[in-house]
Amino acid sequence: MKIIEKAELSQFTTLRIGGVVDRICFPASINELGDLIDKLISQNEPWSILGGGSNVLISSNDIPGTVICTTGLNWIEQPGPDQLIAGAGVRLPRLSAYAAKLNLSGMEFYEGIPGTVGGAIVMNAGAHGSSTNQILEIVTVLNLKTLKFETLTPKDIHFGYRFSSVNPQEYIVLGAKFRMVSDTDASIRSRMKENNLIRCKTQPIKDPSAGCTFRNPIEINMPAGKILDSIGAKNWTVGSAKVSPVHANFIVNLGNATSHEVCKLITKLQEVTYEKYNVLLKPEIKPLGHFNQNEAVIWTNANQTATSSFIITNNE
Ligand SMILES: Cc1cc2nc3c(=O)[nH]c(=O)nc-3n(C[C@H](O)[C@H](O)[C@H](O)COP(=O)(O)OP(=O)(O)OC[C@H]3O[C@@H](n4cnc5c(N)ncnc54)[C@H](O)[C@@H]3O)c2cc1C
Repeated sequence: MKIIEKAELSQFTTLRIGGVVDRICFPASINELGDLIDKLISQNEPWSILGGGSNVLISSNDIPGTVICTTGLNWIEQPGPDQLIAGAGVRLPRLSAYAAKLNLSGMEFYEGIPGTVGGAIVMNAGAHGSSTNQILEIVTVLNLKTLKFETLTPKDIHFGYRFSSVNPQEYIVLGAKFRMVSDTDASIRSRMKENNLIRCKTQPIKDPSAGCTFRNPIEINMPAGKILDSIGAKNWTVGSAKVSPVHANFIVNLGNATSHEVCKLITKLQEVTYEKYNVLLKPEIKPLGHFNQNEAVIWTNANQTATSSFIITNNE
């Protein structure tokens, strides 16, 4: 198994933020991952799970313990004419391109989402009116309570908007089986191209970011990006963390941003939105690592703490 000691986690996130962790491990098989978890649990060592690192804010402070990155679980198989099996670490654009080559439709919306299969199931990733639960047939997981491998069907899982009851406090996603439909190569590729065009026009895809900062609120019928635009948030900057001028729900890293700067910016966005709309925006980005109390309220006030390693420290 590939292991990097004293790894800079910023290298493993799309936002390019994250401190030094004792080690990051890349299991290449389910058995390797199972053995690693057994060892970490028996040694009582802190650990957390990372997929593509495209929806996390990792603290800039050093992080004790182990990060398990799933990107070595990267197999794709076709068990039946309209089905694909993928390991938890398979990148979504690769999976969508693979399906397109087989004339299988259903994953066109994955084009341009820089996450992995595991992250997509945990977040119920979606775009352009489609979401992961609509194409999912089976998820294989390691149940962290029983330490047994299990197979879940969508009936066993509660899915919502950017939410799934498969969360890293209870399960590690190992892989999934997807059901799709046959279509022509031309129509699949034209949908993928269209999705990409929309993304290029509306999102800061070239800048380091962690995707949408906040979930769309249910209290008012307005997406988070529009709300933030309406309070004039575009271009607000704290240090090297900036609200994108392209899409106000994206925070981009201008180069050397820290998690502390991102937290200050998120807090400001939450406060000003609350003053104007009486709505607390809930973060879509998951925290990983150590955050002080002032930072942690971003997630605790909004009941958004389901992450494998979120540690609240005293204010410094
Ligand atoms: C430019 C950009 C555009 C984006 N566009 C979209 C979009 O259109 N739609 C959308 O839904 N999202 C979008 N995102 C967000 C993100 O890509 C998705 O949420 C994605 O599903 C996250 O997957 P990941 O593998 O990167 O997860 P990570 O960021 O690595 O992890 C997210 C959470 O899942 C947990 N996790 C990861 N893998 C596993 C596993 N195997 N088992 C258990 N827990 C796990 C982590 O511990 C963490 O809590 C975008 C992000 C970026 C940067």
